Order: sequence, then structure tokens, then C-alpha cells
Amino acid sequence: MFLIDAHLDLSMNALEWNRDLRQPVASIRAREAGLTDKPDRGRNTVSLPELRRGRVGLVVATQIARFVAPGNVLPGWHSAGQAWAQTQGQLAWYREMEKAGEMVAITDLAALDRHLEVWQSSSADPATLPIGYIRSLEGADSLVSVDYLERAVRDGLRAVGPAHYGPGRYAPGTHTKGPLEANGPALLEAMERFGVILDVTHLSDDSLWQALDLFGGAVWASHHNARALVDDQRQLPDDQIKALVARGAVIGASCDAWMIVPGWVRGVSTPVSTGCTFERLADHVLHICSLAGSTAHVCIGSDLDGAFGTEQTPSDLDTIVDLHRLCDVLARRGFSDDDLDGFRWRNVVNFLRAHWTGREWLA
Ligand SMILES: [Zn+2]
Repeated sequence: MFLIDAHLDLSMNALEWNRDLRQPVASIRAREAGLTDKPDRGRNTVSLPELRRGRVGLVVATQIARFVAPGNVLPGWHSAGQAWAQTQGQLAWYREMEKAGEMVAITDLAALDRHLEVWQSSSADPATLPIGYIRSLEGADSLVSVDYLERAVRDGLRAVGPAHYGPGRYAPGTHTKGPLEANGPALLEAMERFGVILDVTHLSDDSLWQALDLFGGAVWASHHNARALVDDQRQLPDDQIKALVARGAVIGASCDAWMIVPGWVRGVSTPVSTGCTFERLADHVLHICSLAGSTAHVCIGSDLDGAFGTEQTPSDLDTIVDLHRLCDVLARRGFSDDDLDGFRWRNVVNFLRAHWTGREWLA
């Protein structure tokens, strides 16, 4: 039961939360018991052994560093150069995991096919296999100028979400309004030229529509639930879901509780008090399927440990292994075995195959 998770902030967890992700989740929890240094630390759910235990053999793993102008209260760096340096530290962590045999970079179709073959072979023992990762940049602030994208692509970057929360240097992000910033179109043009996937997650509504118009390459929404079920700008409204489906996108179901159930009050609500379970997350998946008219556009984009822990995930989740419970719910609610294979991994692989076949990469 191989799984792909289309959104995990692994290097952020390693370097900002100081998590040695080679350790079991329980060891990391023990080490962090009582720590109050980071407001968003949360009770962790992800580590490399836990991914193996859950057969989550391939992930889209991020680099992430925001620029903040004076007066911006969000956490972030005071210059784009500092943000770039932070992402380069994150890249160094991924390289270190590769060197240790813990992870393997998936940057083209040949590597993807090799990796799938290893993980899906009946004789494979997942406990011994490296976690494959496709690298994505969440928020493009750290690209000091559009030229930096070329270097990042040569280093294996394969997806970019131009924005994160709040104002961004290339595009306004979640909970903001307005079109792309002045250099946004040039970034999209370079992304298309280099074959970089556009991740629309976190774009403002205006900039999402503008990006879909300007960008002719591959588009996905890596961790995004439905606005029809939880009304917030962070979520995808039905017309955006339909437009993404028309573009062949996959949309990743995200495990952040406030995006699953309405009325979440941070620090007050609990998964139990709000009835936040995988059953409710399945509602979002099924809503997207009903708009799409098929199950071909849904996948997992859990965002687990993305600045929240089990305080803010479905109550039937303890670690990332429990993503299989979401699949069980979907099976009960009508997904065939074939639909489930699509949701678990094949929809993402089909997406990558469609966009990576025949592509020449900068090296
Ligand atoms: Zn995010």
C-alpha cells in the first residue's frame, strides 16, 4: 500500500524545529516534551522511519523561507538574501540525508520509475528503503531575483509555489488580495521555460486566476481543501477547483484541522471538540471528485508537521502512518480499489509522467 504525500516541510522541521528526522516519532516527542521555544512546534507526527512504516515512499518536500518587510508581523527574514541562505541550508540538509542513504532525490522520469519499482516490488522491505523526494519551494521570496530560479532548477528544484501566507515578493499570498507583483509574470515565464510545476496553493484569488492565465506549464495545488465546506480564502472555491481540473491538476488533501472543519478557533478548539476526523477530510476529497466528475485529480498533501501537530489534526491521526485510515474511509464511501490506488499514488505519478516525459532538464 504505497503512498505519496504531495506536501511535507521536512527540512523546515529539521532545521527550524531542530528535529533529527532519522529518529522515531516517539523519540522526537520525548526530546521535545515541555519545550516552549516555538509557538507552532506542535506534537510531531512525521519522521523518516515513520514514513517508511507508513509506506509513504515518495514525498514532495519543501524549502521555505519568507521575506518580511518592516511592519509585517509574520515570522521571516529581513532580506531576500537571508531567505535564500536559509533555503540553501535546507538544501544542504536534504543532501546530507541523501548521503546517509535516508532519502533520494527524484528529479526526472527515469529516477521516478526506478524508485517506484523498488518500493512496489513485492520483496522490498520498506524499513531499508530511502524516502524519495521531489523538491518544491513554498513561497518564492527567497529567489533574490528571477535569475536565481535557474540555479535552483540545476540543483533539482521541480515545483514552486510563488506565495505563502501574507504579502510575497512575487505574489500576494493567503489572506491577502490583489494580482501578482511586478516580477511575478517573469517568474512564471521562467518556471514554464524550465519545466517547473506551478503550485497554486497559498496564492491570493486574483493572483491564482492571473497565474493560470499566464502560465502554460504543469499546475497542481499541493495542499488545499474545499472552500465550499470551510469558508476561508486559504481554501479552493468550486470555480478554482474546476479550472484546476481542466488543467489536469492534482489537489492534495491537507490534514490541518482548521481547513477540515468550520469554526476552528486556534488554541481553543480541539479535534475532538470540533468532530475533526478523517471522515470530515474525506468530505473535502469527495467534494472535489464530484466537481471533477472523477477521482483522478485527488491525492494526499498532508502538510503534517507544517507548523501544527496532533493538537490540530484529525482525532484519528497519531502519526503519518494513519493516512491509511483516510484511505479506509474513502473505501467505505465508495472508492473502488482502482480509485484508491489513484488517490494513494497513481494520480500524482500520472501527473508527473504527463509533464516530465521527454523533458530535458538543466544540469
Ligand atoms: Zn502551506
